Amino acid sequence: MTSGRSLVGLLVSVGLVVVLAVVFAVGSGLFGEKSGKRKDGKGETVIGKSMYAAKDDVCRSNLGQVRQSLEIAKDPVEGTNPESLEETKLGNDFYKCPVGSEPYEYDKATGQVKCVHLGHEKY
Ligand SMILES: [Zn+2]
Repeated sequence: MTSGRSLVGLLVSVGLVVVLAVVFAVGSGLFGEKSGKRKDGKGETVIGKSMYAAKDDVCRSNLGQVRQSLEIAKDPVEGTNPESLEETKLGNDFYKCPVGSEPYEYDKATGQVKCVHLGHEKY
């Protein structure tokens, strides 16, 4: 009886190992060039890709908050844009890209702020 149960256990663990091996093989590109390669070439494995995808979201959300805060920091009388991103007082983590640490580009004339990181141009 116990031998039957351990055989099932063995089969289950072998199955799990195979599934994991396939996941990592696909993630590390063993099956040729897969779609979904990032423009900045970061994140080679499945885990790496999802980590950077999460950081992309942080970048997008940072830019959203910076834009809102810039709107608030506008001169209420003149309607002029703030001198720098620092005037939003969000903290230094909000002025650079969480993926590549490039500082965000701020144009005082238009009040536009954008990320210069590869693939983040449209954020
Ligand atoms: Zn970015």
